[in-house]
Amino acid sequence: MEDGKRVQDDRLWQAVLGEIELSVSRGNYLTWFKNTRLLRFKDGVLTIGVPNVFIKQQLERKYNSLIEEVLAKNQITPERIEYKIHTDINASSRRLEEEPFQLNTESSERLHSATTITNSLSHSYRQGLNERYTFENFIVGSGNELAYAACQAIAQNPGTKYNPLFIYGGVGIGKTHLIQAVGNAITSRNPSTRVVYVSTEQFVQEFIDAVRYKKNTDFAGYYRNADVLIIDDMQFIAGKDKTQEEFFHTFNALHQANKQVIISSDKPPKDIPTLEERLRSRFAWGMSIDMQNPDFETRCAIVQSKADLVGIILPSDVVDYLANHIQTNIRELEGALNQLIAFCEMRHLEPDVTIVSNLLSANKTRPKHLSARQVIERVSKHFQVPMDDMLGPKRDKDIVVPRQIAMYILRSELHLSYPKIARELGRKDHTTAIHSVDKVENEMSFDAVIRQHVTDIKERLYA
Ligand code: ADP
Ligand code: MG
Repeated sequence: MEDGKRVQDDRLWQAVLGEIELSVSRGNYLTWFKNTRLLRFKDGVLTIGVPNVFIKQQLERKYNSLIEEVLAKNQITPERIEYKIHTDINASSRRLEEEPFQLNTESSERLHSATTITNSLSHSYRQGLNERYTFENFIVGSGNELAYAACQAIAQNPGTKYNPLFIYGGVGIGKTHLIQAVGNAITSRNPSTRVVYVSTEQFVQEFIDAVRYKKNTDFAGYYRNADVLIIDDMQFIAGKDKTQEEFFHTFNALHQANKQVIISSDKPPKDIPTLEERLRSRFAWGMSIDMQNPDFETRCAIVQSKADLVGIILPSDVVDYLANHIQTNIRELEGALNQLIAFCEMRHLEPDVTIVSNLLSANKTRPKHLSARQVIERVSKHFQVPMDDMLGPKRDKDIVVPRQIAMYILRSELHLSYPKIARELGRKDHTTAIHSVDKVENEMSFDAVIRQHVTDIKERLYA
């Protein structure tokens, strides 16, 4: 890709970012990576543009090897990586967002929510919605048809039926896409409708800030004046008692005024630990829908439609291969497709099964010298929790947290599958592993102590 066209560079970088996004916590991704771009690759030097000196230092010191590794997976092996402060970064990421090829909509969604976090309380209505998430580009199939139908009904007549709508299901299966599609459909029909989309993490953070800066009333007023409130990833409200109370009042105010509330979560209300009973019973007033993994045909249709969007024709065996090998997480499926397209474009190759199988198996390569057992032992030593307890049934907090961290590291470092992670830790149910990984990832974004534990453990692992 020497002197490669800018578009190709962008595409490559999107593929790289897509992968980094899967391997670092959400908070780290937002803070260090989201506003970077590939400036050039020339004479063996790959130059990455970054918005400021802090990010430059952090990438140089902490993330250089991760970036190298991911580039290498994409067969790019520069002699040197340079980080350059680049003032046009914000404009350029906007430009990128407009590019039709950028399949990884999740990252731009995060970009969006990151900006709104910094402007909390000064936002206007219709914030947080990413117009890329529409009903039109949502593939309906087994697993999501019920949720789709309910969302359509709400978009036509908000506040009348299914209120609240509670959608739950695993990671990356389209919950955010679908609930944002409702918001987009409503605002496009009636632009003055006050649609508020907010992630639960952001809601929690804004609430904490509001209390701290004594802007409680602005906060409450903002949410209680919404016509449609869409709140994503409700599981993160677990354990946040004050926020739950605030949400309870917001919910009541909206519900009484026949305003629509839409909630998503990775699990049903009854399985969200420490969800207040009164909230749980409020959620039961409306409709709860379980979103299931898409079946093979639906996954194929999704791949096909994403390829169509960027004007790429994929042979059907390549589509089948992707759909067969990535079964539960559409985000991963998109990431793999993105990577395949970038790889082929750069080398002027036609996508075929050999290429895609090589790329997917390269993704799976992991530090060979590390076994799952070694990871768990390292965590057990770090927290001084005996291995028996790590692998045993006890549910005490000082055992559960190390166990969850072990699961997180097995995922982020060894890229093990969730069922395998569960087995390694003596759990029967792989959803425990999914939740643990997600939880640690989430906590790392705001909890410096957890972050430090994970960093220390990783350092020792690779020492
Ligand atoms: P979740 O919120 O459930 O974790 P997302 O809504 O973020 O998942 O979906 C992950 C990615 O997969 C998004 O880019 C989304 O557009 C895409 N996606 C998921 N389901 C579908 C679908 N049925 N049709 C088209 N794209 C989908
Ligand atoms: Mg989501």
